[in-house]
Amino acid sequence: MSTPDLTTRASCADDSDPLALTVQQARDAIRAALVPIQDEEQVAIRSALGRALAKDCVSPLDVPSHTNSAMDGYALAGSDLPREGAREYRVVATALAGQTVSEVCVSGDCVRIMTGAPMPLGTDTVVMQEQVEVVDKDRVRIDARHRAGQNVRQAGEDIAQGSRVFERGRLLTAADLGVLASLGFAELRVHRRPRVAFFSTGDELRSIGDVLAEGEIYDSNRYSLYAMLTEAGVDIVDLGVVADDRQALDDAFHHAARVADVVITSGGVSVGEADYTKEILDKLGDIAFWTIAMKPGRPLTFGRLGQAMFFGLPGNPVAVMLTFHQFVRPTLRYLASGNWPIRLVTQARSRVTLRKRPGRFEFVRGILSYDEQGQLTVRPSGAQGSGVLTSMSRANCYVLLNEECAGVAEGDMVAVEPFSTVL
Ligand code: AMP
Ligand code: MG
Repeated sequence: MSTPDLTTRASCADDSDPLALTVQQARDAIRAALVPIQDEEQVAIRSALGRALAKDCVSPLDVPSHTNSAMDGYALAGSDLPREGAREYRVVATALAGQTVSEVCVSGDCVRIMTGAPMPLGTDTVVMQEQVEVVDKDRVRIDARHRAGQNVRQAGEDIAQGSRVFERGRLLTAADLGVLASLGFAELRVHRRPRVAFFSTGDELRSIGDVLAEGEIYDSNRYSLYAMLTEAGVDIVDLGVVADDRQALDDAFHHAARVADVVITSGGVSVGEADYTKEILDKLGDIAFWTIAMKPGRPLTFGRLGQAMFFGLPGNPVAVMLTFHQFVRPTLRYLASGNWPIRLVTQARSRVTLRKRPGRFEFVRGILSYDEQGQLTVRPSGAQGSGVLTSMSRANCYVLLNEECAGVAEGDMVAVEPFSTVL
C-alpha cells in the first residue's frame, strides 16, 4: 500500500480546535491513503454473493438464446394478420418451451405456442390466447387489432453475446448471480476479501463469562465490531482484549499488522492514555492522531501500520459504532471493490427541537417513522451520551447536523442517514 500523506494533529484540544479536521476532510484523507485489494481467487457462483468481480464479465451467449414467445397463444407471420375484420387460421403444430417445431408456417397457418418456446420458422408475431376465438381444435379466428412482431422476445434482447455485462469491481448481488447463472458461469474470478484484525484495549475490560470486580466492565466493543465486520463481509481475525501494557500492545500490533489488511482497535490508543502506544505506532508505521470536529467520536487515529491500514477507534461504545459506520465501512468497501460507496441521505421532519452550536458535525441517533399524514419524521432515540449504547440499538438512522447548523426547531426538515440503505 502507498504511504498516506497524513498530518499529525494534536488530539487534546477542545471543540473549537482550529486544527480539527472536518468529517469530510477525514473521509477524503482516508480514501486517498487506500489501495484496493488486487489479489484474486476463483469461487463457485453460490459463494460469490457480495464478492467483487476481478474481471469485466463478457457474455459468452445471447440472452435469450433464441427468439421466443412472451405469451401463451398462437404464432404466425405478422404480414399475414388481417387488415380489417377477422380471419381463420389452420393450427399446424404446437410449440412448447425447450422444443423446436419442424413445421414451417405459410399464409393461413399458425402454431399453438407456449411462453418461452422458440418461434417456429415463418412466424414473427404472437397473438395471446385470450384474444383468439377457437373455432375447433385445428382452427382459430384472429381479428385485426394486432401488431406485427408483438409478444416476441428477440434473441440477445436482454444481453447480446460479446457485450460487457458487469464491470470489474462490481459487488455481486442476488440478481447479478441470477444473470451470471443465465450465462452459464459456474465459477467466478473475484478479489480476495479484506482481512480485518481487531482488538480491544483497556485494563478495566473483562470477557463475557468473567465475574466483574469493582470498576470493571464487559468488553462490548468486540461484539459490536465483530457484528459490523460480519455485515461488511470481510474476513475477521479477533485478537481479543490486550492489556494496557507495553509488551502486550507491541506484540498485538506487530501480529495484527502482519496478518491483516486493516487493523482496528478500540479504546485508549488515540489519546495519550499511555505514551508507549504512540511510540509503538510511530515505530511501526505512519500514523496520525486526529481530532475530528464531530460528536461523538472526536479522536480518531488513522494511518499505515506495516502493510496494513490502521484505525484506532475511540473506546466509547457509541463512538466505536459511529466511527466504524462513517469511516471504516466505506474503507472496507473501497478495499474490496475499488468503489467508494454512495451514502443515501434523505430529509425528514424533526418531531422535536434539537439544540446545537455551530462548529462541529453532530450525529444524533434517531428513529425514522411516518406520521399520520404519511410524512417521514424523525426523533432522537434516547439519551445521546457516547456511552449510551441502548440509544444506538433503538435507532434506525443518524440525524446529520452539519458544522454550520445552529439548532433545529420542531417541524424543521433535517438530513437523515438511514442505517440500512447504504447503496
Ligand atoms: P478509552 O478510549 O479507553 O478512554 O475508553 C473510553 C470509555 O469507553 C471508557 O469508559 C471505557 O471503559 C469504555 N470502553 C473502552 N473500551 C471498551 C470496550 N471494549 N467495551 C466497552 N466499553 C469500552
Ligand atoms: Mg482505555
